[in-house]
Amino acid sequence: MTDQFKFEEEFHSEENKLQRKQRKYLQASDRSKYKKSDQDQIKKKEIDLSLPRGRVVAVTGEGTWVESDGKRQICSIKGTLKQEKKLTKNLVAAGDYVRFSEGVIAQIEPRFSTLSRSDITGKKEQLIAVNIDQAIIVVSLVEPPLKPALVDRYIIASAKGEIHPLIVLNKADLLATHPVEKKRYHEFLAAYEPLGFPILTLSVKTGAGIEALKSLMKDKTSVICGQSGVGKSSLLNQAFQMNRKTGELSEKTAKGTHTTTTAELISLPHGGYCIDTPGIRSFGLWKLESAQVRAHFADIAALAQGCHFPDCSHTSEPKCKVLEALLAGELPLIRYESYYSLLEEAGGGLDNRTKKKLDDSE
Ligand code: GDP
Ligand code: ZN
Repeated sequence: MTDQFKFEEEFHSEENKLQRKQRKYLQASDRSKYKKSDQDQIKKKEIDLSLPRGRVVAVTGEGTWVESDGKRQICSIKGTLKQEKKLTKNLVAAGDYVRFSEGVIAQIEPRFSTLSRSDITGKKEQLIAVNIDQAIIVVSLVEPPLKPALVDRYIIASAKGEIHPLIVLNKADLLATHPVEKKRYHEFLAAYEPLGFPILTLSVKTGAGIEALKSLMKDKTSVICGQSGVGKSSLLNQAFQMNRKTGELSEKTAKGTHTTTTAELISLPHGGYCIDTPGIRSFGLWKLESAQVRAHFADIAALAQGCHFPDCSHTSEPKCKVLEALLAGELPLIRYESYYSLLEEAGGGLDNRTKKKLDDSE
């Protein structure tokens, strides 16, 4: 793990706590204050359908850039909306759908997904981008090597933000000369495809899979995420004729500016938007909790029904159905490895006996 990611993890673990608190607070106050029908009424009243609709593409020092009918303009925010500025540091974020008139945003539509982090004081939530349809999780098949645990981490983070994951396996051109990685690639597909996650194999170098990715991004808002060096910049350049820095240069930029949280929605030529900034690329990399890990691995949870201990961690306990399935070859090792390493990261605890069992089964 690079220092950058370590830093991000520490940073986000604090942020996560705060967000949970805020969410709990919001849910509690929502429930106590209004009945559902009242809430619906408020929502209906809030949106004035007669006003033009636009989408916030960026928030800069100059103001809020709103795109409507293909044109962009700077808008200010109506004073009465500012009174609502309580829990979040920023009132609008890239991706917001707004109603506006004469350069003033009058209303913000309810959001269906949000990416956020705590602001510099750690007291308020800062929205990074909202209304995102999908997270494109880019991983490399060869260099850097495929890490299923990292894929699962991003899937967990996407689910938390109500964003659909799409797994992109890049650098497929290198498989022909890398038999070990090729075997691992097939193991990954065999384990992850049956779980229902959409997976796309791609090579930016040969162009294979690029058209399929473009069609999956059409008319949607996608956030690009993944480790440095997997080919995110190269991919955007190739698919949409962008001019993003690649290789070591982009890594340097990312390190220097990874706390940048402002996002810009980039319009895609064939419809849709994508967001790619260093601050967002690693959005999923905060500290995990073991409950999150367990909830994510539904396949393992299903096997666990028959475990002897109700709180079995499936790492060392006797009469564990998950370990039995693993040793019988019914649970793919690549999948268990991911569970194991994420649980360990989350502080779930593993002992040497389990490690030995795993080594023996290879
Ligand atoms: P980023 O850090 O995720 O934005 O990754 P970059 O786009 O900077 O790519 C990192 C390195 O991987 C560069 O040297 C690219 O030329 C190389 N690369 C990207 N895609 C492919 C691919 O499909 N095949 C091969 N062989 N190399 C690739
Ligand atoms: Zn078990």
